[in-house]
Amino acid sequence: MASDLILDDRTRAWQTRAREFARERIRPGALEREWIQDPNERMPWDIIEAGSRAGFRTMGVPPRYGGPDPELSPLAAALVIEEFAAADPGVASSFNHVVKEIRQIARAGTEEQKEAFFAEFLADDRYLTGTAMTEPGHGSDRWLQPDGFHFDTTAVRDGEDWVINGRKHCITSGNEAGLLLVQATTDTSKEYPEATTVFMVRRNTPGLRRGVVHDKLGLRLVNNTEVIFDNCRVPHSQVLGEVNKGISNVSGFMHDNDLLSLGMKLGIARAAYETALDHAKNRVQGNTPIIAHQAVGLKLAEMAAHVEMIRSQMYRLAAMLEGREVFDPMFMELATWQSVESVFHVATLGVHVCGCRGVWLDHPAQKHLRDALVYFPNDGNHTTHLLVAHRMMMNDCR
Ligand SMILES: Cc1cc2nc3c(=O)[nH]c(=O)nc-3n(C[C@H](O)[C@H](O)[C@H](O)COP(=O)(O)OP(=O)(O)OC[C@H]3O[C@@H](n4cnc5c(N)ncnc54)[C@H](O)[C@@H]3O)c2cc1C
Repeated sequence: MASDLILDDRTRAWQTRAREFARERIRPGALEREWIQDPNERMPWDIIEAGSRAGFRTMGVPPRYGGPDPELSPLAAALVIEEFAAADPGVASSFNHVVKEIRQIARAGTEEQKEAFFAEFLADDRYLTGTAMTEPGHGSDRWLQPDGFHFDTTAVRDGEDWVINGRKHCITSGNEAGLLLVQATTDTSKEYPEATTVFMVRRNTPGLRRGVVHDKLGLRLVNNTEVIFDNCRVPHSQVLGEVNKGISNVSGFMHDNDLLSLGMKLGIARAAYETALDHAKNRVQGNTPIIAHQAVGLKLAEMAAHVEMIRSQMYRLAAMLEGREVFDPMFMELATWQSVESVFHVATLGVHVCGCRGVWLDHPAQKHLRDALVYFPNDGNHTTHLLVAHRMMMNDCR
């Protein structure tokens, strides 16, 4: 689409490189690959490795630990994720997670933790990371924090170790990640977040088991899985941040999450719009390309308006996180909610514009709709963000 802010040279360079990589390496064959039935076979390791060699897997590593110098800005990260998501949001999701989890470790880790982690992370082109919060019994609870809530997964101190027991599910890259940031309850007498500690749990830790893969409708090129902790023993040195205050370093994580998630939704919406525009220019009905019919043109204009709305929200949140605008937590909640409405609406209109072809499994329009749909339960649930915004309004009234 035409609009783009005037970006500085470094940010523009990230965007351009990501666009080229997405066009050459991610988009070709993505649609066909989605229908490989075995999730392990479907996993696009070739793209992850190529993206790693091109510097995208490690782009969030601070310069001091071997990452790009100068450090990647939040806006540049979001623009890379937008480009990847426009080609395939499943692939984008693996890179998106790595960026935000790396930034959490950079913010909250000790010097020893950072040196050890970044060395092993840089050395392996397949090293992914994940965040394990959601449990079968607690999804939206993590966001809405009802009275008495804490995670069922517990970690109990035993000498120099912690012993973790419980089950997480729906965890992005849960089966593949070399490192998981696991939220567990360490003080059952308290409520979330004070009850909670974050642990760095490596893939080969005894007692960590990977469970079922939740085969899903969209974002099919990334796996979401169960992760089971069965007397999983983790040394105290792997606590990220402080015990029972682990969550205090997660607020920055959620800011990164919400910005990159806007990049994901922008990429999907942009791709849906471009697919529909291309179809409308080439499909002839009523003796003219259908783009000339006002009924189709109005749909395309509406789609473009929603794409621009998500783009504006992404740039604005990036400005807040880079300190160029005052941070407004309510804006973050509202933008997260609105962008889900927008991406779903854009993808739905895209299917309308593409007619019967739009629902054929070899056509991208249906893929965009499936990918958009996944955002209703993603990031803590769509409605949850309005509920949190409502709470903020009520607090302002008190
Ligand atoms: C693609 C994808 C990737 C994900 N990746 C991760 C990940 O990497 N790590 C991770 O930890 N989690 C991940 N999740 C999980 C995600 O954060 C959860 O799906 C989310 O928290 C919602 O939880 P739930 O699905 O259990 O829904 P539920 O909490 O069961 O909600 C169901 C419905 O009830 C409503 N509801 C629930 N509670 C209330 C209430 N108190 N008041 C009013 N309405 C309510 C919700 O709005 C929703 O409409 C991922 C999810 C998806 C879809």
